[in-house]
Amino acid sequence: MKLIIGYLYPDLMNIYGDTGNIIALKKRCQWRGIEVVVKMFSIGNKMKTGSADIYFFGGGQDQQQELVARDLVKSAKGKVLKSEIERGVPLLAICGGYQLLGDYYRPHQGPTLKGVGLFPAFTVAGDKRMIGNIVVDSKFGGLVGFENHSGQTFLKENAQPLGKVVKGFGNNGEDQTEGCVYKNAIGCYMHGSLLPKNPALADWLIQKALEVKYGKVKLPKLNDQLENQAHQSAIQKFS
Ligand code: GLN
Repeated sequence: MKLIIGYLYPDLMNIYGDTGNIIALKKRCQWRGIEVVVKMFSIGNKMKTGSADIYFFGGGQDQQQELVARDLVKSAKGKVLKSEIERGVPLLAICGGYQLLGDYYRPHQGPTLKGVGLFPAFTVAGDKRMIGNIVVDSKFGGLVGFENHSGQTFLKENAQPLGKVVKGFGNNGEDQTEGCVYKNAIGCYMHGSLLPKNPALADWLIQKALEVKYGKVKLPKLNDQLENQAHQSAIQKFS
């Protein structure tokens, strides 16, 4: 079997170790004998339905977000991404990428950035930066990460949060929600990078991609002793 990982705007949206998520997805596939190709989609690259089997969208600063927000509309990559998610393709978006997949992002300065409208949420720059380790209780169990954002994301009615904040700020530092889930797309504020320390989430994304592409597939278990040690020590240290 083969999976294509679509890496969105890696030259502009890749901060606080986010590229580690690509490495984790790639290794967890290769350790199971699944061939992996990483395809980059940035400004000037065309993207169409079926371009990738999993999409990853990292974090970025306001300046880069403005360039990317414009390209998502101009190149129609935003529309393609929405149709991919509607057919069940999994996606992980972190922080700045997550913010651009909501209805809009209003930064401190400059224009309000139109979002893709994938997640039923909107983001406005807050008056403080939310920085630090974060622990979240979710359907994947405890999740650990690192956050650094001023944007406060508010979920609209019926939006499904990824989880409940145990330690840290999460979406907005007010309502104890963190992230958003729509079909097999997950947005959240957890940099770090997220997936190496949260193998259950990494495998969920891989499993969903295999199901869409090949139908039901049993994902062989891996020896996650090291990953679980890193996960547990983070949970203990940060909670
Ligand atoms: N520029 C956005 C904010 O500050 C996103 C930052 C990020 O991706 N870490 O909220």
